[in-house]
Amino acid sequence: MTMISHIDGNEGVATTTHPLPHRGAHVAVQTTLEGKRGADILHDPLLNKGTSFTETERDALGLRGLLPPKVTTQAQQVDKILNNIRRKPTDLDKYTYLVSLQERNAALFYRVVIDNLSEMMPIIYTPTVGQACQKYALIFRRPQGLFISSQDRGRIKELLANWPHADVRMIVVTDGERILGLGDLGSCGMGIPVGKLSLYTACAGLPPEQCLPVMLDVGTNNQALRDDPLYIGLAQERLRGPAYDELVEEFVTAVHETFPRACIQFEDFGNTNAFRMLRKYRDRVCTFNDDIQGTAGVTVAGLYSSLRLTGGKLADKKFLFLGAGEAGVGICDLIVQALMAEGVSEADARAKCWLVDSHGLVTKHRTDLAEHKLPYAHDHAPVPDLLAAVEALKPTALIGVSGTPQAFTEDVVKAMGRLNARPVIFALSNPTSKAECTAEQAYTWTEGRAIFASGSPFAPFTLAGKTHVSGQGNNSYIFPGVGLGVIAAESTRVTDEMFFVAAKTLASLVTEEDLASGSVYPDLHRIREVSAKIAVEVAEVIYARKLTSMPRPTDIAAHVLAQMYEPAYQAYV
Ligand code: NAD
Repeated sequence: MTMISHIDGNEGVATTTHPLPHRGAHVAVQTTLEGKRGADILHDPLLNKGTSFTETERDALGLRGLLPPKVTTQAQQVDKILNNIRRKPTDLDKYTYLVSLQERNAALFYRVVIDNLSEMMPIIYTPTVGQACQKYALIFRRPQGLFISSQDRGRIKELLANWPHADVRMIVVTDGERILGLGDLGSCGMGIPVGKLSLYTACAGLPPEQCLPVMLDVGTNNQALRDDPLYIGLAQERLRGPAYDELVEEFVTAVHETFPRACIQFEDFGNTNAFRMLRKYRDRVCTFNDDIQGTAGVTVAGLYSSLRLTGGKLADKKFLFLGAGEAGVGICDLIVQALMAEGVSEADARAKCWLVDSHGLVTKHRTDLAEHKLPYAHDHAPVPDLLAAVEALKPTALIGVSGTPQAFTEDVVKAMGRLNARPVIFALSNPTSKAECTAEQAYTWTEGRAIFASGSPFAPFTLAGKTHVSGQGNNSYIFPGVGLGVIAAESTRVTDEMFFVAAKTLASLVTEEDLASGSVYPDLHRIREVSAKIAVEVAEVIYARKLTSMPRPTDIAAHVLAQMYEPAYQAYV
């Protein structure tokens, strides 16, 4: 049994892609095995294809005897893997199995994930990745990215040079302070950059060797982790102030020098650092914050799609948010941009966005507001709770980005149902355990009238004979396509306009069937098509705004498609 499962994991390959020498002409080309032979090939996840090596390859590459005699196809390997995954008792077991497959055989991993996305995404991403981060110290086996700690100050460039791939294009970095809605998980938050970059490859075809997950370990304020002898990170208080800023500065500078074509995605930072870092770096390097900008893109797309069910224009609507952090304020900012594009003044657009945080309604009279909330602090009497805010403001959409489970109570959802024929209720907090309400609750409490979306997926729910298939309002519909466009056109910056066009493109791909089934997003199985279309529109912005020195390809769509990694096995000889 042990032996078979070892062989199971040894099935795969990957193709190595390299840029052509000229900037702007990095069409993926197949390269050789870089001189590797025998066991070195089998131990390289980007080269290994396990039992699918042909008889000729086994002879030519010194593999004879290192594999069992039967030659299998990738399709047979996929069947075996699916069979193994489906027999695993828990989602965390499935996660661990998939991650170890990824560490052995990237092509097979991506074949399995891409062809079974709605089954695999909740395993490699939210919600299971949340559990994986909580147990990361126990399940960690091999580094899938770089761990850079505050003790590495002064030599970050040296660490980056240790990464085995030279042509890094997309970096997802976290400092682990706000992992999903689970709080400070320190170094255990590494599961998030790893998961996000897997989605870049699966959903938008970024070649795996161009993706670099980074954990910037600055300590953790999670005492339970610091006390845990098995904790993998620095067991010390979080670095703050100038020392923190200097570390991030060294990291950003070192990335720029080592991987000059890389885009840096900031992920799951605490909100005081997240907003500051975005402001500091967005006009200096190619960077964005997915929690602020990507979430905004997917939510605005959902709001556009909702209009097809509610009627009216965005300008006729009013938005109430539970949660006034990165996600909440990021979404408000993009709504303002969308409304201004419809001819609404900035002040009137802001007046349509209302925020409730852990101290109540965000109003002008409050003296405790962080800077990022100030543009949405309106003139209003204090309001004691969310229900009172709904009654007072009469919003058309209620959006949960608070990380507070069950905060959309029956009374709150029923009030939304009383005020609106089709109330828009998005419970976007992740993972599932943090959702403000479930799909079942939203539909039950509004007699099936809610237009519902959630950050983590919910199973279809049947009420009075109608099955509601709610959409996943998750930034995974946005960041892969935006990243692909940025990389394909070699943008020097990432701008809010790119997220706006991404939102519009995503909304335009929602079909009548999607809407009829209850989803304001396209079916997940179309994600690569969605990402490619978003990438094309993003590339158009890049050329229109002159954010690249790369000559414009005659056919941008063909150029984008040519960049996309396909996990098919290649013949080596
Ligand atoms: P954040 O820490 O920046 O902000 C959280 C906000 O919620 C703060 O304003 C806080 O005051 C408020 N809050 C906390 N408890 C509250 C309560 N009981 N009542 C009212 N407000 C409360 O975090 P963030 O980055 O904005 O993320 C928040 C949540 O949104 C997380 O659960 C995260 O997983 C989720 N999120 C989802 C997506 C997605 O794509 N669906 C993307 C980003 C974030």
